Amino acid sequence: MSESEIVVVGAGIAGLTSAAILSKLGFSVTLIESHYQSGGCAGTFKRKNYIFDVGATQVAGLEKGGIHHRIFDFLDIPIPEATILDPACIVDLKDGSPPIPIWHKKSKWITEQEKQFPGSRRFWKLCNLIHQSNWIFANNNPVLPISNFWDFSQLVKALVPSNLVTGFLLKSSIFDLLRICGLSKNQRLIKFLNLQLKLYSQEDVYNTAALYGSTVLQMCQQPHGLWHLKKSMQSLSEALESSLSKTGVNLIFGQKVNSINFDEVSKCWKVSANSKKNSFIYQSKDLIYTAPPQSLLKHLKYPLNRKQIYKNRLKNLPDPSGAVVFYSALKKENIKKISSNHYQFVSSEFGSLFVSISDEDDGRAPKGEVTLIASIFTKTKDWFELDKQNYVKRKNDFMKKISLELESHFDISPENWLHRELATPLGFEKWTNRPNGIVGGLGQNPDIFGLFGLSSRTPFEGLWLCGDSIYPGEGTAGVSQSALMVSRQILASKGMGNFNL
Ligand SMILES: Cc1cc2nc3c(=O)[nH]c(=O)nc-3n(C[C@H](O)[C@H](O)[C@H](O)COP(=O)(O)OP(=O)(O)OC[C@H]3O[C@@H](n4cnc5c(N)ncnc54)[C@H](O)[C@@H]3O)c2cc1C
Repeated sequence: MSESEIVVVGAGIAGLTSAAILSKLGFSVTLIESHYQSGGCAGTFKRKNYIFDVGATQVAGLEKGGIHHRIFDFLDIPIPEATILDPACIVDLKDGSPPIPIWHKKSKWITEQEKQFPGSRRFWKLCNLIHQSNWIFANNNPVLPISNFWDFSQLVKALVPSNLVTGFLLKSSIFDLLRICGLSKNQRLIKFLNLQLKLYSQEDVYNTAALYGSTVLQMCQQPHGLWHLKKSMQSLSEALESSLSKTGVNLIFGQKVNSINFDEVSKCWKVSANSKKNSFIYQSKDLIYTAPPQSLLKHLKYPLNRKQIYKNRLKNLPDPSGAVVFYSALKKENIKKISSNHYQFVSSEFGSLFVSISDEDDGRAPKGEVTLIASIFTKTKDWFELDKQNYVKRKNDFMKKISLELESHFDISPENWLHRELATPLGFEKWTNRPNGIVGGLGQNPDIFGLFGLSSRTPFEGLWLCGDSIYPGEGTAGVSQSALMVSRQILASKGMGNFNL
């Protein structure tokens, strides 16, 4: 049996970041990852001469003052090399009107908004005001949702007067903001917002919480921005791993945690894990669990039976989405009309496609070639309920249809694909251990966001949740914020004071 002060389950960005922070603060930390590499949904895989980003392809929070930047400064490690995305994305509503480039420069984006959505200025202004208020609050490191007095005190400390005004919008949606601005019938704007919000909140305009949506709609512009990492997404995890090795974290690959129990005698958590050949036990006072909370139903069986209300809460979490991702490669000269790394366009077959194209010299493909990744949302049960034959048929069908959509959108000749493959929720389950291949955390609707979400503090002392189902939600920046929050909670729970970046 191996003992440490803190065990972290899962070396995605949430697990790597919390392990790195707590180890830097002086705790002994063991980090257990089932895969043979770190990164989870923000990892990469190699195929032939190509490196493909598995899920995440763009990063928020790398700018000075952004969450990754602040954490990297604290860890005293260099920020991975990256370029700002400008435009962050080009959105094509396929309604015969020109595509919408989402510019990084604020003034350029405001001009574009006016051109694309005449009369919408008051909506964007309102979103911006709400976002300004949210941002000061978020940078004051609140703890949400609140589960005890310390959490409450952190929430109160983080509040600024403008939050009391925006607080009235706690239960409102982005559609409510459109209504306030007299834009509830602006179908083109609604179509655009539906596409963008779905990417960041898993919800549409009617169901995205106003406070959450207002902020994600400002993430591409100064002083924030989205970034394209050089080499691959893995460089974010590699940088965090370099911090783990400096501070002596016991990072274990290839062991899958299969159960978690509380030992009443030692008053410690006991974590059982399996490699292909052996079983292992790890013991710690604090345990950070970064796999999706739905997996606790399997891993925390015995303790959960004593907390039926919490068990039911986990059982009844709304179904998150799944993803189908198309990974391909082409000669740069064979893909026409590109002026951005990211595209999003409406598809009658799939709702929409989100496309990420590498830079010619960014390390993902040999000279003269690029990788092209396209993702769509899907219901996980549509894949898991199929027998083998129908699964293969559906997968081939998706491969064909996605190829056709891309060929038509980017003027690609079918013979020019150098590589093509598809991941379904079954593949995501295998890669990330997420039950049924669910991705991206919980939909950020007014019933789940912020105060009403799932807390990092569980009803079990010393067991903490972290990752994209916890405040503030999905994305590498979101889970880093949740890693910082849980690290502060652990420090405070030991009476070791407060800690802020
Ligand atoms: C298709 C797609 C596109 C996306 N695009 C973006 C984007 O462009 N930008 C962005 O910021 N975000 C994006 N995201 C979201 C982002 O990738 C995730 O929100 C974030 O990476 C989640 O990090 P995490 O650490 O919470 O979880 P995960 O990445 O899922 O990490 C959890 C880790 O725990 C491990 N694990 C699970 N169970 C066990 C177990 N039993 N034992 C041991 N280890 C275990 C897994 O192997 C995994 O490594 C995208 C996601 C997907 C799927």
